[in-house]
Parts: sequence; structure tokens; C-alpha cells
Amino acid sequence: MNDVRLDRRAFLGLGAGILGVALTPVWLRPAGRIHRLSVPVMGTIADLAVVDSDAGRARVALDAAAGELRHVEALMTRFVASSDVGRFNAAPMGTRVPVSHETAEVVRAAIGWARATGGAFDPTLEPVARLWDPAFVDRPPDRDVLRSAASESRGWTALEVQVRGDAAWLTRAPGTALDLGGIAKGWGIDRAADRLAGMGVASALVSVGGDLAALGAAPEGRPWRVGIRDPRDPEGIIRTVELTDGALATSGDYERWFEHDGVRYAHILDPKRAAPHRGVLRSVTVTAPRAVDADAAATAAFVLGHDAAIERFDGLAERPRIIHTA
Ligand code: ADP
Ligand code: MG
Repeated sequence: MNDVRLDRRAFLGLGAGILGVALTPVWLRPAGRIHRLSVPVMGTIADLAVVDSDAGRARVALDAAAGELRHVEALMTRFVASSDVGRFNAAPMGTRVPVSHETAEVVRAAIGWARATGGAFDPTLEPVARLWDPAFVDRPPDRDVLRSAASESRGWTALEVQVRGDAAWLTRAPGTALDLGGIAKGWGIDRAADRLAGMGVASALVSVGGDLAALGAAPEGRPWRVGIRDPRDPEGIIRTVELTDGALATSGDYERWFEHDGVRYAHILDPKRAAPHRGVLRSVTVTAPRAVDADAAATAAFVLGHDAAIERFDGLAERPRIIHTA
């Protein structure tokens, strides 16, 4: 969730029948009621859009939604020592670490996704992720270093969450360290959308780095139209998706990566190999009613591959659906 490159994987189409770059003012014209805010958060850019006849009220709602995103980032980033995740990862083995109920809820969701995907989604890869993080390295780690990090890790099955009333704890088992980078962004998007709904907003779009949730429909009752970027041509659009009340997330190898000796190493890890996943897919786009599920499912689908992901997703209550692969 902390990257210096600022990219967006999806454009937001805000006009009736028009898709394209978020900044084109012509789209704001039709109703004159779409109010927008772009803020840097979670290592990328959040684009928020609220439909409201009252500009002042929309501004307050947009600020509150952005605040939710910052709040979730502050709790769950692994790059800050004072976050729940930072404190957990620094705690001595075997200790119970108090965390917010929000973080406990995301960890529970993450464990659910780990179980549902046979461990393709694994929120405990932090020790391995650190060694391969494109934000910090430009070559594969030393074999011995990698072997010891991988053998230390006991994976998601060693992760324990307890919740009692308002209090929550995670237990630091040997070899567990948390990385919620594959799911927290989606959870934050849901919280921002919930906040807007709670403030009486009926129509809005919350996008963070291209993962997004639609609240209600776009102006004139039309679905929101969203473009998925082409992984081979970041300026191009390969597909448009219509969305009313739902979420969409894309995971791919084209956003954060380094290249070494002609091989591209991206930021999604294959837990079995303790190394960046290398498969045929460049990107996977998943829809689900909730962004938390679309986010985790997209990350998992990237690792599993199209067919295995479809098999795993079949019948899940979270209703993830792969709508595009490239
Ligand atoms: P992005 O964060 O770019 O939107 P993803 O949602 O696919 O992309 O999440 C990728 C992030 O998830 C990585 O940066 C890392 O923090 C974490 N991660 C990497 N591999 C896995 C995995 N197999 N399971 C769960 N999380 C992962
Ligand atoms: Mg994800």
C-alpha cells in the first residue's frame, strides 16, 4: 500500500454514455451535480465522485470519505511502525497484540480468503514480500536469505484473531508477519462508500488506484461506466464495465515491478514459491458486491490463474466474478 509510482488502473466514466479520463470537465456538465475529489492515499490516488445538487454538502461528504480511507491506511499499512500491522509485526513471538476491531475484521476476512483459495491468498507473506518489494529492491534476493524467510513463515494457518466486545487481539505465532496489502484497500473503499451512504449520499463512486465501489447509479439512473486499462498500454482502455451498487478490483503485474536479467518481478507473490508469481496472466479484474472481496479475489485469481480461480470462486457467498483477464 505504499508505492511511489502513482498509477490508476481504471478510468471513471462519469457522463451518460461517455467514458474516459477523469479530468475532462465536459462530463461534469450534464447534470452539474457530480462533485469530485482526488487525494493521494494508500500509495496511490483515490478518486471520489458524489452526485448531489448541493455542492457544500457534497464537499463535506467527499472529505469524510477521504478521511475513512486515510483512517484505514493508518491502521493497516505495514510501512508504519505505529499502525496495527506495524505493531503486530514488531511484537515478540507468542504475544497477544491488541488491535482495532477494524483490523481484526480485515484479518478475519483475509483468513477467509486464504481458506477459500487454498492459500493462494495469504496475508502473512510480509517477510517474503519485504525481500521482493519493487519499492525497495531491483534484483532477486539472495537464495539463502529467501530460504530462511520462507522457512520461517508458517503462513496464514498460524494467524489467530480474538474479539471480545470492543477489544480485539492478534496472536503473533512464530513466523507470522502481516501484509494486508491485498485486501485492506478494498475494505477501505467499502468503509468510504458506507460513510457516504450514512451521510445520505445515494449516488457515488469511490476508486482507489482503480479498485472501486459504486454506490447506487450514476446520474439519470444509468449505471456507472468504468474503463479497465490495458496492461500492455497503460494509456489505452481494453474494456468498459457498467456498475450499479457493486465493486470491482484489478490485480496485475504491470503496476509495481522490477526487472532483472530480462525477467519481470511484480508485487504479487506465489505463496508456494515465496517469489513473485509468474504465470500467463498480466491482469485479472473481478467484481463482487463488496470491494473487500473483489480486492482479495483479484489478488488470489492472479496467483491461481483463470480456471482454478473460477473453480474456487464457484458458490462462495462473497460472489466474486472474474469479468476480465488479460
Ligand atoms: P494492488 O495493491 O496493487 O492493488 P493487489 O490488490 O493485487 O494489488 O495486492 C497486492 C499486494 O498484496 C502486494 O503488494 C502485497 O502487499 C500483497 N500480496 C502479494 N502477494 C499476495 C498473496 N499471494 N496473497 C495476499 N496478499 C498478497
Ligand atoms: Mg487485491
